[in-house]
Amino acid sequence: MNFQLYDELFNRDNYPAFSPKDYLPMDNKMCVCLSGDLYENCCKKEVEDAKINRKIDPYANEILEKTYSKKDKKLLSYITEDKSLNKKNISYCAANKVFGDCDNKNHMRRSHTLARGIVLKNLSGGEKVIRFNDHKINSEQDKEAFFNTIGKSGYSEVDIEDASVTVSFCKKHDIELFSSIETDGNGNYSGNNIQNLEYALKSISFDIYYNIMNIKFLSELIKETKYVAFNPDGSNSSFFQDYNLRVNSLFDLYPLMLKVLEELKLLLADNKEPSLETVSFELPLSKVNFSLSEIMIIDDTICFANCINAGKPYIIISYYKNNERIASLDKWKEQYNLNQSNKIGELKSLWPLIKGKFLINAQNIYFNKEAFDKLSDLTKGYLYVIHREGTKDIPDKVQVECDEELMRILYGL
Ligand SMILES: [Zn+2]
Ligand SMILES: [Zn+2]
Repeated sequence: MNFQLYDELFNRDNYPAFSPKDYLPMDNKMCVCLSGDLYENCCKKEVEDAKINRKIDPYANEILEKTYSKKDKKLLSYITEDKSLNKKNISYCAANKVFGDCDNKNHMRRSHTLARGIVLKNLSGGEKVIRFNDHKINSEQDKEAFFNTIGKSGYSEVDIEDASVTVSFCKKHDIELFSSIETDGNGNYSGNNIQNLEYALKSISFDIYYNIMNIKFLSELIKETKYVAFNPDGSNSSFFQDYNLRVNSLFDLYPLMLKVLEELKLLLADNKEPSLETVSFELPLSKVNFSLSEIMIIDDTICFANCINAGKPYIIISYYKNNERIASLDKWKEQYNLNQSNKIGELKSLWPLIKGKFLINAQNIYFNKEAFDKLSDLTKGYLYVIHREGTKDIPDKVQVECDEELMRILYGL
């Protein structure tokens, strides 16, 4: 598949499909290596052989070890990301279909899914920002020891030039479609329809690009060795299930991306009111020490989530109603408003949202370095573990203690 052609990238037929029963690739669909051949004519035989040989091949573990335990920068996931973003091996203009008339003279440009000016600059305070190092391979060692040792190695420092980048807009549309949140002088969040659509577009652009990049990575991984699809006993690993999830997610999100773009186009051209619902929270702080722009699922509804320092800090969550409004979101807002005279109460009422949705799910999340450096090693380890695996198996006592510290430092109290 050509990862630089919009029509190829957003055509479901160019991706593999998986059996709903056991997630094995379907014969008459595209191969998992994305060669463009049908699975039955491409990797199927090798995959079936690998299933049998996984148990008996004396080199199987060594081959997998070699694939998974390289230094970060030599890992396939790192190489895929680097090539996608820096060599622009995955590049398209997301506005191509709805707005047309792309700037084809210039190549697609690296753009920030967190608005560079108001979001990243205000977050960073002139320093680098901190992100999770998701290339790191989870170790099997016991959790408590892990918390204490993961320390800084679960994170990377990045220059804001390189933070939250995708290559998903042409130069023209990157400027035009985000002018209400990125152009100088538009630094404050007013909650108007244009800004809400622009922030929604930021978050979905990230998730779409991220899904495509992950599909590319999985296709490269199975090219490297078919053993990735199987456990030592020959049973199926989660490989094909993960692959299936990525492809499904891409094509669940794609129509929503088109909808945001269409509503933005109608609003700009005809001042037509969008149907996007938005709930926003103005935090009673001068600054919040993390930012994110990403898709979240709340009450089974896909939401566009942003956390920004636009003058004041805001959490902005938008969505398209399936049938009804999102009850949890309205409840959080209600709790928040009830606590209006009590700053700490107000901030505490948002913690279930911040922890349960943001810290646990977010990939496109960045932290202020000075604040991050203040976290204890235990809390850094905890944050990393809940980001990767959720709170399962973490004792309540540890959660309470670490949450307290995280809340204090992320809110800058
Ligand atoms: Zn193949
Ligand atoms: Zn374009």
